[in-house]
Amino acid sequence: MLTIGYAAQTAKSPLAPFNFERRALRPNDVAMEILYCGVCHSDLHQARDDWGFSTFPIVPGHEIVGRVTEIGSAVKRYKVGDAVAVGCMVDSCQECDQCRKGEEQLCRQANTQTYNSRDRITKAPTYGGYSKHLVVREEFVLRVPDALDLAKAAPLLCAGITTYSPLRTWNVGPGSRVGVIGLGGLGHMAVKLAAGMGAQVTVLSRSPDKEADALALGADNLLVSSDKEAMKKAASSFDLIIDTVPVRHDVSPYMALLDVDGTLVIVGQIGPIDQQLTLPFVLGRRRLAGSPIGGIAETQEMLDFCARKNILPDCEMIRMDEINEAFERMERSDVRYRFVIDMASLS
Ligand SMILES: [Zn+2]
Ligand SMILES: [Zn+2]
Repeated sequence: MLTIGYAAQTAKSPLAPFNFERRALRPNDVAMEILYCGVCHSDLHQARDDWGFSTFPIVPGHEIVGRVTEIGSAVKRYKVGDAVAVGCMVDSCQECDQCRKGEEQLCRQANTQTYNSRDRITKAPTYGGYSKHLVVREEFVLRVPDALDLAKAAPLLCAGITTYSPLRTWNVGPGSRVGVIGLGGLGHMAVKLAAGMGAQVTVLSRSPDKEADALALGADNLLVSSDKEAMKKAASSFDLIIDTVPVRHDVSPYMALLDVDGTLVIVGQIGPIDQQLTLPFVLGRRRLAGSPIGGIAETQEMLDFCARKNILPDCEMIRMDEINEAFERMERSDVRYRFVIDMASLS
């Protein structure tokens, strides 16, 4: 199937229209028309080859919402017209211990990424959601519950699951004391999801001017991390802190905020961690952890949870041809809190 998308041809070139083929349906494939695609920070980084492993041309996009247009002969779960979604991965080995546990994101043979990856069968490059159509095997397609607004649901597929998964892994529930560092695409979802689970949520920010935003998103308070007195008072008062800041920074001031057995979980790409004092880890039995996205079953659970609790990202809708400007604005953190491309603007 011939389709159109937006691709970067080199690390230096802006995204521009790009015609390409989507594969003919295999028996277990679902074809969809893409309606909306969220704009993730990793789209920008990979389009510019900031991480050094991009192949070009690259069609970014892994927060995808669409409607089924065709199904393969063996597809059981979906029918034409269904509202569906695809996140960061489109395949995995399906055989290893992690895949069998439903943790395809941790596949021993590495999952196949929605873009900037290679199809497991043909080895052809995968192209993402900045496009009109997509073909994905049934096992990696999610169902969008009726109660979710399709235009706003897309960012749940990366920003949502990346923050939902650690909240579930560390058993957050009513009364849990959760801190969120950074109030961007991921951070604002972490606040909404943790609040939805009944946790007591604190946003950690270097400046006090984020307070109104934090409270509006559902946080109970804001802790100003540059305020030494306030930080001292907050020592040993968190069960879980989610660090969403995607640039290099010192995590040690946050370690002291964790209670016994507390965990600081890093979900962004922060590069090398500066010298850490080990004593707070040992004395408080504290942990420093990382977490990627979640598995397919957990992603579906997250979508169903958001539908039940009426949780949606705050989105700014853009046209496909506004993507380069959107990238520039993201670099300046000038977005509240996620851009979503209305794919009807691409023809
Ligand atoms: Zn992402
Ligand atoms: Zn596997």
